[in-house]
Amino acid sequence: MTARRLIRRAALFVARRRRPLSLCGVGLTAVLLGAWAVLLVGCPGQSEPLTPTPDVRPTRQTRNTPPPTPGDPWQPAGDNLLMRVRLVSGTDRLTVAVNGPYRVLVDDRERAGSSDPMPEVTLAMAGAGRWTLGGTELTGRRVEILPLRASTLRLGGRLYPGFLRVVADASAQLAGINVVHVEDYVAGVVTSEMPSRFGRSALEAQAIVARTYALFERMTHRAQEWDLEDSENSQVYRGLIGATEAGGIGATVTRQTRGLVLEWGLPGEPTRIFPTFYHSTCGGWTVSVRFVKPKIAPVPPLEGGVKCDWCSGTKYRDRAADAPVRVLKSEFWPRLLKAEPAVAALGGPAATRVAPGQASYGGRLVTVLMTGGGRTVTMRADDFRRAVGARVMLSTLVRLSDDGRNIVLSDGHGWGHGMGLCQAGADGMARAGSSCRDILRFYYPGAVLKKLYD
Ligand SMILES: [Zn+2]
Repeated sequence: MTARRLIRRAALFVARRRRPLSLCGVGLTAVLLGAWAVLLVGCPGQSEPLTPTPDVRPTRQTRNTPPPTPGDPWQPAGDNLLMRVRLVSGTDRLTVAVNGPYRVLVDDRERAGSSDPMPEVTLAMAGAGRWTLGGTELTGRRVEILPLRASTLRLGGRLYPGFLRVVADASAQLAGINVVHVEDYVAGVVTSEMPSRFGRSALEAQAIVARTYALFERMTHRAQEWDLEDSENSQVYRGLIGATEAGGIGATVTRQTRGLVLEWGLPGEPTRIFPTFYHSTCGGWTVSVRFVKPKIAPVPPLEGGVKCDWCSGTKYRDRAADAPVRVLKSEFWPRLLKAEPAVAALGGPAATRVAPGQASYGGRLVTVLMTGGGRTVTMRADDFRRAVGARVMLSTLVRLSDDGRNIVLSDGHGWGHGMGLCQAGADGMARAGSSCRDILRFYYPGAVLKKLYD
């Protein structure tokens, strides 16, 4: 047993009372040994760890998840720190360049390369298992282009750290995947997901949650060709530009929080990472993961119910003064059918009435009811929102009605799904002098900050 683990076991946990509807402020009540605090470096200027919440009763799903053991997939290490980020897909050719020496591997064997730069060339499939890279023919399942030494990969006009892996599916459609160390990946995410003008500790918190989320995705996508997409479907990632723009603040906060992740565990049991969801603006309250992503174990840090005043006054916080948004039901009906096939039995958009169902903290919609042809279909409000359009229906913290042809959205608050960290609120906290630990402790109650690697 390592000294670090001994110290962690010796930590004293003191129960913190959690009131379901008044979670504003966290009220640090656990006392931890100073030695552990010293180990938890990072988050500049702070040495105080986040606190576990032993009084929050774990759910069945939490208890049934096996505890981490050596070699446990829930404990990322070694090559698990290499992220596989899908940059492009569904194309029959890619344009790629390298500004220095490079190697080309096919199915892990070196097939081409040069000590000179690779000019912009096209990689395409010429038939089953046959590829062309510029004028070079290659045979195999998987092509990798590895920049050597300080050279850099360029794909689609954008520079990327790491290397490029290209795979083809059964219909010869290509996917271009950036294989990149998680630290380089996080550096390319921070200012792609959060404005670089946000407070420093908010950006540090962003780096930590982006890293944790990525490592969680890495562990849960082992059987797939890629772990993450470079879009909002996972996290927005723009390669080197994300790390270097705005004076390189993305790279700086990544370096200063290197290896730091958020974890949660029952008292006396090992902690492990969880998917650190985050969003633009909560609108007043965060929501439980169980209402948005029910397949994810609802660990206490994702149980929502955090009352957030820190995003008050920001652009998307309160939209009550905005004119109601009317959205033609027939316009989003095809997407609704795809998301919830049971909607087909209702008789079409004109015959269906849409109404709010259950609500959570602050009145945030949890379900939406659709009634037509004598039937009612209940849908998760967040699924409904995405079918309508996440940039049209900005959040589920909104008043929903139906005027016959349209749904009507009024008195909206916030932007995004509402789970986990509220970015606008994190900026508010940062400007008020809060550290990144304060921010993470507030939005992920009970989470522990852990340095996973040096
Ligand atoms: Zn907020």
